[in-house]
Amino acid sequence: MTPLVPVAEALDTLLSKAPPPPHSELRPLHGACGAVLAADVVADIAVPPEDNSAMDGYALRAVDMPGPLPVSQRIAAGQAPRLLLPGTAARIFTGAPVPPGADTVVMQEQCTEVNGALEVRGEVRAGDNIRLRGQDIVTGACLLARGRRLRPEDLGLLASIGVGQVRVRRALRVALLATGDELVEPGSGPLQPGQIYNSNRFMLAALLRSLGMEVVDCGRVADTPAATADALLQAAGSADCVLSTGGVSVGDEDHVRSQVERLGSLALWRLAIKPGKPLAFGEVGGVPLLGLPGNPTSSFVTFCLLARPFLLRFQGVDDVEPLWLRARAGFTRDKADRREEYLRVTLSSGESGMRVVPFANQSSGVLSSVCYSNALARIPAATTVAEGDWLDVALLDSLN
Ligand code: AMP
Ligand code: MG
Repeated sequence: MTPLVPVAEALDTLLSKAPPPPHSELRPLHGACGAVLAADVVADIAVPPEDNSAMDGYALRAVDMPGPLPVSQRIAAGQAPRLLLPGTAARIFTGAPVPPGADTVVMQEQCTEVNGALEVRGEVRAGDNIRLRGQDIVTGACLLARGRRLRPEDLGLLASIGVGQVRVRRALRVALLATGDELVEPGSGPLQPGQIYNSNRFMLAALLRSLGMEVVDCGRVADTPAATADALLQAAGSADCVLSTGGVSVGDEDHVRSQVERLGSLALWRLAIKPGKPLAFGEVGGVPLLGLPGNPTSSFVTFCLLARPFLLRFQGVDDVEPLWLRARAGFTRDKADRREEYLRVTLSSGESGMRVVPFANQSSGVLSSVCYSNALARIPAATTVAEGDWLDVALLDSLN
């Protein structure tokens, strides 16, 4: 049997084999969250577009202090100011443009207005409380670069320069197959002997959608070579990529790998990862296929660590790696595994910094180990862990 492929090497292979992203389309800002920019966005205006007041108060010239100064105009947000006459002050409100001629805003807490004349207490420095034109965005700046997955705050930034629609990649279409004679759909009634509910289908469909991708749900596939071949061909014909679960191991009832080899080709199979060893990657009719293991936790972990970066790269994203943090082990493990292991852990911060504690049952069939954890901790291959050792940790929130 072929040796197990190290995780880093498998990831390199996956990323190098990601096809070019789908074509681009214009999307209104409201529908663009999570979409991937297909072109740089360059600011053609400055933000703020003009100097404006950071406070409710009075705009004036610092050289005219200490006053008192007559109040010569009133400027609310949304109004255009007039030139400030030297030796006068303008009543001004937060966000209102600073009148030409003024160089300072004094906050109203420092001011008293008596019979139309302003008296100021305390120190005043030129430039106080003015938000300068372009302090957020300068004209001509590359605001967001091609290959970025748009976040809610990015939509705000784009809106702030007046952009109403953006050029993004069409959402990747991913065909989802769940193999296994034992699988029945939740909601379809009680289980018969030997049956289990199809949990991966819901978890993986939701993971794909949370990446902004479109799911072509191909349902359940029976454990026969013919049904597997039919399903693979149909899935490959209906999507940009195929994602399957189950049937990639070495049992007599596992047909995904052999059918991918028969109908297309296999580039990866069997990785040095725990959980998730049997993962397969190849193509059918030129359409990439990721065969995830059937055990729900294996399916989840390999999706996050391998399928996700591949799919994001295929979708056109530049930065596809999760953020790995460092935290101390709050546990001991005397037995080293020859595979790199990803423990489902709870990361918490205490007096001595960040620390992780693993969920008690790390079996690949125990999906609650994912649900009741908030991070994955990486244990390198052939490594034992002593309490207090540094570990690489990725928050689940950064992986889905
Ligand atoms: P397999 O990779 O097909 O050998 O499946 C490994 C284990 O995962 C078996 O116990 C299967 O019953 C279980 N399994 C496979 N597919 C699913 C699924 N879609 N939902 C929940 N469990 C599954
Ligand atoms: Mg199976």
